[in-house]
Amino acid sequence: MNEIDRKTFAVRSCPICGKPVEPAFKPFCSKRCADIDLNRWLSGVYAVPAKEDEDEDGNRPAESETDEK
Ligand SMILES: [Zn+2]
Repeated sequence: MNEIDRKTFAVRSCPICGKPVEPAFKPFCSKRCADIDLNRWLSGVYAVPAKEDEDEDGNRPAESETDEK
């Protein structure tokens, strides 16, 4: 009925590192990436509203961590 959905699912890539998803760890490619995502949730990265105004005293987040995409 829905071939596109099946295809999309099959080709889905890990939201953490972009590698192909491993069925055993979906929607991630490995336990490592699953853990990374879990840690993000636990540390509130996804839920906490932006408070970046307080970072203006010079301490910007490291820009070297942008290789997630
Ligand atoms: Zn991954």
